[in-house]
Amino acid sequence: MRTRAALALEAGKPLVVTEVDLEGPKAGEVLIEVKATGICHTDDFTLSGADPEGLFPAILGHEGAGVVVDVGPGVTSVKKGDHVIPLYTPECRECPSCLSRKTNLCTAIRSTQGQGMMPDGTSRFSVNGEKIHHYMGCSTFSNFTVLPEIAVAKVNPDAPFDKICYIGCGVTTGIGAVINTAKVEIGATAIVFGLGGIGLNVIQGLKLAGADMIIGVDLNDDKKEWGEKFGMTHFVNPRDAGDDIVPFLVNMTKRGADQIGGADYTFDCTGNTKVMRQALEASHRGWGKSVVIGVAGAGQEISTRPFQLVTGRSWMGTAFGGARGRTDVPKIVDWYMDGKIQIDPMITHLLKLDDINKGFEMMHSGESIRSVVVY
Ligand SMILES: [Zn+2]
Ligand SMILES: [Zn+2]
Repeated sequence: MRTRAALALEAGKPLVVTEVDLEGPKAGEVLIEVKATGICHTDDFTLSGADPEGLFPAILGHEGAGVVVDVGPGVTSVKKGDHVIPLYTPECRECPSCLSRKTNLCTAIRSTQGQGMMPDGTSRFSVNGEKIHHYMGCSTFSNFTVLPEIAVAKVNPDAPFDKICYIGCGVTTGIGAVINTAKVEIGATAIVFGLGGIGLNVIQGLKLAGADMIIGVDLNDDKKEWGEKFGMTHFVNPRDAGDDIVPFLVNMTKRGADQIGGADYTFDCTGNTKVMRQALEASHRGWGKSVVIGVAGAGQEISTRPFQLVTGRSWMGTAFGGARGRTDVPKIVDWYMDGKIQIDPMITHLLKLDDINKGFEMMHSGESIRSVVVY
């Protein structure tokens, strides 16, 4: 079949909206009509050329929602008409990682997904016979796309596509980092570095988990109002915090007789390795957990003095919020439908596919929290 898609032909160039050829689903695969897709920083990271694993030409996009329109042989868990969210982290429920119950990082299709291919090692997308790479196993910047059955989550059919697409990446990453990775408890103190889309979702995850003090840190004062919408209790602009923000934050979080200070949980949502260090060091001596969510550029490294870890701080990281997609994503859609979490205020712009490059520009300028392309 033919489908409209935004093609990433080479790094650093705008996407080109055009018609591409799409083969139907093979064994174990499903054909999805994508109804809406968010534009995420990770798409931008790859498009910019900074992603060492970026492949071109490709169809980017990994934050979608749509409807199953066809299934290949052997598919049993979804059928035509099901509403689904594509998963860049699949859940096969059979590989050693899935069976470990200790991680969400399913390995069933990891190598072919990294090569921009379906699990049989070929691509379903082409233009004039030339192969086009899939991206993160999703390629939601195409109106129709093919995914492995294990990489779709079946969700509530009443949920609006232009909102729940965000659960395919940002919402689940932020909320999951709080609930699955840090396992924040009621009454905790927390600091969130970077109040973009992920940071705001961390904040609403903290609120959902019953955190007491939720401090947001951002260089942009406009983010104060944004953070407060989702449950932030205190805002700090590092420019107002003196030479070193760490003692400032430690001082703010002093509680109890020993007056040690430091937050129970800290989250880096910036991708800046200096901030990652500050986040770790602003966590509480003896038990503080610091979670790295932001993706740093190629070749960058984090550092701190071992003393920070010896004295009981833990440095952790999370991908897709530690969520097992087929199990957890439908639950998060239900939380949204039940009003437990908010998505609508974060979707600041709706675009047509033809205007997708405008979505990237608004991300760069900071004008948008999330732009969503509606097909
Ligand atoms: Zn993303
Ligand atoms: Zn697996």
